[in-house]
Amino acid sequence: MPTAKLVANASPSPIHPDLDSILVSEGEIKKRIRKLGVEIAELYGNEEITIVAVVNGAILFTADLIRQIENPIRLDCIRISSYRNETRSLGKPQVLGHLSLDLANRHVLLIDDILDTGKTLSMLVAVIQKMHPASVRTCVLLDKRGRREVEFEADLVGFQIPDKFVVGYGLDFAERYRNLPCIGVLKSHLQNPPEWA
Ligand code: 5GP
Ligand code: MG
Repeated sequence: MPTAKLVANASPSPIHPDLDSILVSEGEIKKRIRKLGVEIAELYGNEEITIVAVVNGAILFTADLIRQIENPIRLDCIRISSYRNETRSLGKPQVLGHLSLDLANRHVLLIDDILDTGKTLSMLVAVIQKMHPASVRTCVLLDKRGRREVEFEADLVGFQIPDKFVVGYGLDFAERYRNLPCIGVLKSHLQNPPEWA
């Protein structure tokens, strides 16, 4: 069972003027990722893990998480067509390109930045299952459980968060803010279609 911390109280943001508040600080992220490394070790024992990261969003999380894993790992990335209009999802996500690693008989750990409606990860798990892996598990940094449109739970969750549009630590709005070291709530007047996007 995931032991994700529920994030409810946001603190004022001194980090970036476009943020309303900070939901998860850099220090909290680091601490939780160390614990996720322990949870992964308990789940997998000494088995090799084939990590599949959903890019671009999961880049920072994956880079930090794999350094907390002592098992042998293989790493691949997958890209999904953007099926979102600004901050809300529309239609169905689709895989762009293909994986370069063979997943047959491998223990696959799919990593994404955030689980929202559940459409992306449920579609990706179905795609990976067709490749006959030994197992498929999912790990997300953030989980907006209240927003699910399809039934889906991740095996490993960093933080449960409320239904707010967040950026930072890999998560973007129109490709900006991915480099912020924390997770913050974007000011609502900036969540409209940006003129500079
Ligand atoms: P789902 O398919 O579960 O609805 O959405 C997952 C994807 O939507 C995530 O990988 C992420 O790209 C995007 N997403 C969902 N919520 C947020 C959010 O609050 N902020 C950002 N930047 N992206 C989000
Ligand atoms: Mg994404």
